[in-house]
Amino acid sequence: MPILQEREDQAPPPFRLDVPLHDLLTKSQAPKPVLLPARGEEKFPEPVFPQRPDLLAQDDKYEENLARAKAGKRRWTAPLVLRAMNGWLFPYIKSRVLPGPFHPIIAYLFTEWKCNLDCHYCWAFDNSVKGMTEEVAKRSIDWLHSTTCRVLAFMGGEPLLRPQLVHKACYYAAQKGFWIYMPTNARLLRPDVIDRLADAGVAIFNFAVDAVDERPGLPKALVPVRKYFDYLVRKQYKYGYAVFFNINICRNNLEDVKQLTAIARENGIATDYHINESPMIEQNHFQHYAANDTFIYQEDWPKVDELVDWLIEKNRAGYKMVNSVQRLQDMKEFLRGKVRPWNCRAGQNSIIIRVDGSLAPCFPMYSATHDWGVIEKHKFAVSQLDEMKKSCQSHCFSTLNHNLGFCYNDARVIHWVLKQAVRGFQGVTGSFA
Ligand code: SF4
Ligand code: SF4
Repeated sequence: MPILQEREDQAPPPFRLDVPLHDLLTKSQAPKPVLLPARGEEKFPEPVFPQRPDLLAQDDKYEENLARAKAGKRRWTAPLVLRAMNGWLFPYIKSRVLPGPFHPIIAYLFTEWKCNLDCHYCWAFDNSVKGMTEEVAKRSIDWLHSTTCRVLAFMGGEPLLRPQLVHKACYYAAQKGFWIYMPTNARLLRPDVIDRLADAGVAIFNFAVDAVDERPGLPKALVPVRKYFDYLVRKQYKYGYAVFFNINICRNNLEDVKQLTAIARENGIATDYHINESPMIEQNHFQHYAANDTFIYQEDWPKVDELVDWLIEKNRAGYKMVNSVQRLQDMKEFLRGKVRPWNCRAGQNSIIIRVDGSLAPCFPMYSATHDWGVIEKHKFAVSQLDEMKKSCQSHCFSTLNHNLGFCYNDARVIHWVLKQAVRGFQGVTGSFA
């Protein structure tokens, strides 16, 4: 749940999990998991760039494409439809028919745990931690490729701190058939980086912004990166990737959320909203527990409710959003500490790979010391995951895992495939619900 304190001068809880589970996950005395020995030198091949020199040119049909996107009629070519199917649908089918409980569909690869910004709500970076080595990155992709997984999401920290490594990893993963998700705060998303990543095969850019211009505690803003945003939006139809705004609703950006929603609409891109949460697990490196100007307190609930209702209205009016109306409604409950029972698939169909190659079921558990194994030798056990989720599911609002849990249902998948078939598979990157 987010912050349940009434007033901002009260200190928030250091973690959200129930104490027994928190102790179990963070006080493990087991030795740190160690990677298996490498089989030799592991390096990515040098990426070919440009693979498609014609795509470097401007998009002459931008206005026409933009109008189509705004009307919800963006055109996807057959290879792009196939790329999405290879990433999502075929791994889902395999995960249903193959024996055993561990069939990842999506993996989050933390190539960095460092960041060039400091959003005051964020515990997901520590600038004293070294990034993933090229060897671990390559071995991770090779291992994932040997499983059902075909969606590779880069994560951080800020993944673009080392653009050359990420370019090599994207190129390599795309050649192996992965559907690639690239989140970024966009400060380093220069046009030449966009061209390289798009040419390598990135399928979607998660453009994370919380404010139009910088605010105290919220440096992820659009104004400092506006030129990069315009370039990214303009080139998306040519390269065939998609872009969406990822916006965290905080107590001090409620008006910005509306403005960013309008900017996304003008530019024919989708939006994805999160509600600001305190850490699930205690984070010793987190600097902003006290005096945090971004956390939502009880006194803020009416204004946040009003914003959520405004978003629901826009969703119903046809604005493209990753969040369903139900999911937006649930935000209001979550603010009050309530989470409806749901079907978390973490540790079975989604996993994270930390910078050192160790594994965990999900992002909220990044700092847990429980041993879930390493790449090439996982130790996920359904009994442990089920027992853990009896407690953590009631505190967790993880959007990605909620969406995966909702979609992990044969009837819903069949319904979605039939709906897409009727539309000529022209909505394959749209909302599932
Ligand atoms: S840019 Fe992202 S990783 Fe960096 S501090 Fe902000 S939320 Fe955290
Ligand atoms: S409910 Fe799932 S995603 Fe959330 S903390 Fe538990 S295992 Fe992780």
